[in-house]
Amino acid sequence: MEDFNEQKFTEAKDKTADNLPQGENAEYNKLLEMGKIRLCGLNLAKLEGLMESFGEKKFRASQIASWLYTKNAKNFDEMSDIKKELREKLKEEAYITDVSIKKKQISADGTLKYLLEYKDKNTAECVLMRFDNRANLTACVSSQIGCAMGCKFCATGQRGIIRNLEPYEILEQILTIQRDTGLKVTNVVFMGQGEPFNNYNNMMEAIRLINSCLMIGIRRITVSTCGIVPKIYDIAQEDLVPTLAISLHAPNSELRAQIMPVEKRYNIEDLKKALKFYTEKTGKRVTLEYVLIGKLTDTRDCAMELAHFMKDLKCNVNLIPYNPVDGALGFKKPDKKDVMKFKFILEASGKKVTVRLERGADIDAACGQLRGKDIR
Ligand code: SAH
Ligand code: SF4
Repeated sequence: MEDFNEQKFTEAKDKTADNLPQGENAEYNKLLEMGKIRLCGLNLAKLEGLMESFGEKKFRASQIASWLYTKNAKNFDEMSDIKKELREKLKEEAYITDVSIKKKQISADGTLKYLLEYKDKNTAECVLMRFDNRANLTACVSSQIGCAMGCKFCATGQRGIIRNLEPYEILEQILTIQRDTGLKVTNVVFMGQGEPFNNYNNMMEAIRLINSCLMIGIRRITVSTCGIVPKIYDIAQEDLVPTLAISLHAPNSELRAQIMPVEKRYNIEDLKKALKFYTEKTGKRVTLEYVLIGKLTDTRDCAMELAHFMKDLKCNVNLIPYNPVDGALGFKKPDKKDVMKFKFILEASGKKVTVRLERGADIDAACGQLRGKDIR
């Protein structure tokens, strides 16, 4: 386990997103000469560029996009309304994806966890959660392999940062779930491995793809951050603004610094200013996530202080009972009665408070348990 590390933080910052041209034939021809083109992750404009370079009509691009992103095709032969000649050309010049399922686990509560293997053999998880009382299917996606932020209670944090995920590698997590289950994902949360704001450009490009190709509304896309303050200002000013969730986890700087090294770089007061900017600029509410660690962050004093902190903030609160993590010694689950008391005190302040259901804990798919290992 390591503390916040400036150098690693800088190394982990955005890798360039896919930089395929938007429809310039010469560029495509150069790429085709270099090898096969990966289709997954290309938006409609880019697919149109590719079709033009094949000497095909533009409308072929929307047919292909529909097979890739709506009908979840696994191979070119499934693309039945595309003429055979073009399918053969696609087989020669292109491929759908290079991401594969390394392992799939099913929890007793219906949660699915996929361990995906990327081209360089690195692995990361994505999780599909179904809630019995709702039609929603929520995919929890990873934004990085590992994480540089070193939160003391989190399995991913103990892994350190390995690398950023590319936009298509994020999109692929949702497509894999859809291809495998035949179901349509309706909501996406960036709550898997990684700190999305340390991979900001790729995260934004992934959000644009999820929104435009998979047609998932921006209100149904939530990004969770441990509080990289400058990026909160940035995201509030994007054309496409997702819902924001903040891993707060403590009501004051002292306690927060004990469990979250990020506090030493961006403190809770500056975080609050940034959150106010976000809510005022976008009109949206933020969700405060708060991990209840037994006898540490679940006390009556913490609840009172948190109620005070959020009084003048447009927010909801999501309480997350701590999930045990191997190696994170000294933390324990909260007692049920302490969770209820905590909730009660916060509700008295007039905010909407939910307690996050523990999903998939039996397969290590619950919050904070993802570490990219093929351990079971
Ligand atoms: N890096 C981002 C996205 C991860 S979201 C972030 O931290 O916000 C995963 C959520 O689960 C975060 O709120 C995280 O703080 C929380 N979490 C991490 N470890 C946990 C644990 N052991 N038990 C419960 N929640 C945990
Ligand atoms: Fe990284 Fe989030 Fe885990 Fe902290 S809680 S180490 S920011 S993944």
